Amino acid sequence: MSTNTETKKRTNMYENVMREFDKAADAMNLDPGVRKILAATQNEIIVHFPVKMDDGSIEVFTGYRVQHNNALGPYKGGLRYHPTVDIDAARALATWMTWKTALAGLPYGGGKGGIQLDPKKYSQSELERITRRFTYALGENIGPDLDIPAPDVNTNAQIMAWIADTFASTKAPNQRFEAFNVVTGKPVVSGGLEGRDRATGFGVVNSIKKWAEHTGEKVKGKKYIVQGFGNVGYWAAHFMNEEGAILTAVQDHTGTIRNDEGIDVEKLGEHVLQNGGIAGFTGAESVDGAGFFGFDCDICIPAALGNQITTDNAGSIKAKLIAEGANGPTDFAAEEILRDRNIQVIPDILCNGGGVIGSYFEWLQNRRSETWKIEDVLIRLEDLTGRAFDRVVKTADKYSVDWRTAAYIVALERLEQTYKERGVFP
Ligand code: GLU
Repeated sequence: MSTNTETKKRTNMYENVMREFDKAADAMNLDPGVRKILAATQNEIIVHFPVKMDDGSIEVFTGYRVQHNNALGPYKGGLRYHPTVDIDAARALATWMTWKTALAGLPYGGGKGGIQLDPKKYSQSELERITRRFTYALGENIGPDLDIPAPDVNTNAQIMAWIADTFASTKAPNQRFEAFNVVTGKPVVSGGLEGRDRATGFGVVNSIKKWAEHTGEKVKGKKYIVQGFGNVGYWAAHFMNEEGAILTAVQDHTGTIRNDEGIDVEKLGEHVLQNGGIAGFTGAESVDGAGFFGFDCDICIPAALGNQITTDNAGSIKAKLIAEGANGPTDFAAEEILRDRNIQVIPDILCNGGGVIGSYFEWLQNRRSETWKIEDVLIRLEDLTGRAFDRVVKTADKYSVDWRTAAYIVALERLEQTYKERGVFP
C-alpha cells in the first residue's frame, strides 16, 4: 500500500464522520451554536512515553486520547492498539462515540484513543509495561467520573485490568476501589460485567432481528459474511448461528475463507483463539479476498476496521443488508451507491451500540457494588438496543431520511436539548 493511499484513508475517517454530521445537522436544522460546539473536539491529549523492552532497550511510544464531548456525562469509549491509530482516527472515533452514547440514551459523552503499534510485535510483558506507562502518562485525564476507556480493536479484558491496576495504584488507599471503575470491559473477577464480552455482537444481531421484524424478513436461513473475527465478529456470528443463519465467508488480517454450505462458527472461533487468525482453518476453502464484499450473501457484517466499503466495491455488493459491527466501515460516497441500489445499512452508532451499553451496565454494577447475572444483562441489552432501533426507524419516517441520518438526528436532538436547557457558561 502506498503512503498516499494510507494518508487518504486516514483522512477519510474524520472527513466521513463530519460529512455524516453535516448531513444530519442540515436535515434537522440543528441550532447553529450547538452545531459549532459539536463540530469540534473538546480535548486532544497526545502523550509520548518510554518503555523498557524485554532486551533492556528503551522505546518511546505515542498514545492518544481525544475527548470529543461531555455534555451528557463523562467521556466514554475504547482504546485501540493498531498501526492506523493517529490523531485523525482518534478524533473520528471519539466523535462517533458521542453520537453512539447519546443515541443509546446513556449518561455519557464520547472519547477514544489508543497507541499506534502492532501488538503482535510485542511480548505479553512488553504489552503490560506499554499499557501501564500509557495509563500513567494519561494520569488525571481519565477517571470514573471523567473519562472511562474500554476495549476496542486489539485491546481486551487483560489490558483493562492493567489499566485499572495502574490507575488505582497511583491513588491514596481510601480511593483505590473507586479508582478501579476507571475502565469497563474488565475481567469478571476484577469487577467486569458478565456478558460484556458478547455485548457488541449481541447488539449487532439484535439489530438484525429488528431489521427483519421491520421488513418482514426472517433471519433463519439467511446467508451472511463477516469481516473481522475478533470479539465483535465472533460473537455476532455466534448469535447469528443461534438464529439459524448460515455463515458462508469470513475475512480477517490473515486471509479469506469461504464455504457456501456453511462454516462452523464455534470451530472457527476455537481456531482463531489458538492461531490468532482464520488462516489455516480446515472447515472452509481459502480464497482470494479481493472481491470479498461482492460474495453472494443476504447479510454482510463488517466487524473490523473503518473505510472498508468504498466506491471501489459498493457497486458489487450482493447483500441486501449491511450491519455495521465496526466503527465507520462504510464511507460517505459508498453509502450513496448503496442507497441507490436499495441496500439497507444499520449504521455503526446504532448497530454496535451494545458494547458501550454493556459498559454502562458494568459501570453501574461497580458503582452500586453489585454483581449482575448474565441473563439480566442480556435482557436489558435487548431492551436498550431495541429501543434505540425503534427511535431511529421512527425518526427516519418523520424526516424521510436514511437510518444513519436518523440515528444522528436522535443523538443530536438530545445534545441540542441539553445545551438549550443548560446554556453555555458564563
Ligand atoms: N470500543 C467500543 C465502541 O467502539 C466500546 C466502547 C465502550 O464500551 O466504552 O463502541
